[in-house]
Amino acid sequence: MSRRALIAGAGIGGLITAIALARIGFDVAIFERAERLDEVGAGLQLTPNATRVLDRLGLLPAIEPRATAPRAIRIFRSRDGAELARLPLKARERWGAPYLALLRADLQSALAEQVAAEPRIKLALGVEVAGCGQDAASASVGLTRGAIRLAERGDVLIGADGLKSAIRERLGLGGREAARFSGRVAFRATIAAKDAPAWCAEPDVSLHLGAKAHLVHYPVAGGAKINIVAVIEAGWRERPGEDPWDGEADRAALDAAFARWSKDAHALLGAAAAWRAWPLRLRPPLPAVAIGRIALVGDAAHPMLPFLAQGAGQAIEDAGVLAESLAGAEDVAQALASYSRRRAPRVARVQMESEAQARLYHMAGPLALARDFGMRALGPERLLSRYEWLYAA
Ligand SMILES: Cc1cc2nc3c(=O)[nH]c(=O)nc-3n(C[C@H](O)[C@H](O)[C@H](O)COP(=O)(O)OP(=O)(O)OC[C@H]3O[C@@H](n4cnc5c(N)ncnc54)[C@H](O)[C@@H]3O)c2cc1C
Repeated sequence: MSRRALIAGAGIGGLITAIALARIGFDVAIFERAERLDEVGAGLQLTPNATRVLDRLGLLPAIEPRATAPRAIRIFRSRDGAELARLPLKARERWGAPYLALLRADLQSALAEQVAAEPRIKLALGVEVAGCGQDAASASVGLTRGAIRLAERGDVLIGADGLKSAIRERLGLGGREAARFSGRVAFRATIAAKDAPAWCAEPDVSLHLGAKAHLVHYPVAGGAKINIVAVIEAGWRERPGEDPWDGEADRAALDAAFARWSKDAHALLGAAAAWRAWPLRLRPPLPAVAIGRIALVGDAAHPMLPFLAQGAGQAIEDAGVLAESLAGAEDVAQALASYSRRRAPRVARVQMESEAQARLYHMAGPLALARDFGMRALGPERLLSRYEWLYAA
């Protein structure tokens, strides 16, 4: 007998969950409030824990051609540009899956193409999930499309509706206002490789550490573009109706935060004209990520700081575990309880370690000196082994 999943949200989390559930025989209905799926042009790193799931789902052939595979993570000191560490990423050899960098729009369109080609999945755009409920036999959503109100019923409901999740709120797991501003703002820009300083074209992830700020850049789009992320500690003024993924950037605040950085950093920041800003927000880890027939995935369940590059990666892990838990299960609520037991401790750890990484990256004064000394003393192998718990899972 066929089973039906309802999914709120068609971001990376919703799309990958739809594909994973269709693979185990579910009919899937995705409801996305945006009218179109086009995305702002920011980059993403996908670490081996995430690409392993994409591989299992047979999605790597669609994604790898749109990505680059960095050779190494290189860490630099902001003051003078000195290299503190070079961590070679022989990811397939070491973790059995690639380490990839790509545009979020490219990942989203690769997943959307798979969704469009899968007859079991129906994607409805311009439809907002306004409420949800459940009983012993089913889960349901209330939907709005303009002035029209509709309701849909399924065996399971997945809240993939992002940081300010309505489904999470309905489950009593915290209202939208509980998404707290972290005091950090991420500025992002993507520039043509030909317009960037030549050293940026190296196929590496480069990370520059400074006091209360850091800068990351890596090639994307097969090396044709460079993705740049600059994170600073700053305030954020809410603008009503602003897209949380695409805010107005305060260029003066960016320049002030990097004023004492090396010439190389200035050359890179100066090469990018069009910056967008993201206020980085947090919610506390949840003890459970499913209740009855309703489960959360991605930022709806575990928004995190991007310092371990794990937000989308954890959404992808969620989808893999959700499909494993539901495959062949007769009792949906029991399957989701198993999903929750497997995911809640892992994502809580990733959320907390991402915050710890934020403190480490932005150290100043003697603490930063000690950090830099420690990195050099540890050496690449021991530094990389600190991520084993994350990448090898
Ligand atoms: C600066 C920065 C750098 C990052 N770098 C990385 C990285 O390198 N690697 C990585 O893995 N992650 C990274 N991330 C995190 C990653 O981008 C997010 O964690 C991920 O995109 C979240 O996906 P999602 O599908 O859970 O949520 P979202 O992308 O927010 O998608 C939610 C979707 O639900 C829809 N929606 C919301 N409410 C409703 C509703 N009521 N009804 C219907 N639809 C609704 C929204 O329109 C949206 O399409 C980064 C994030 C930032 C800010």
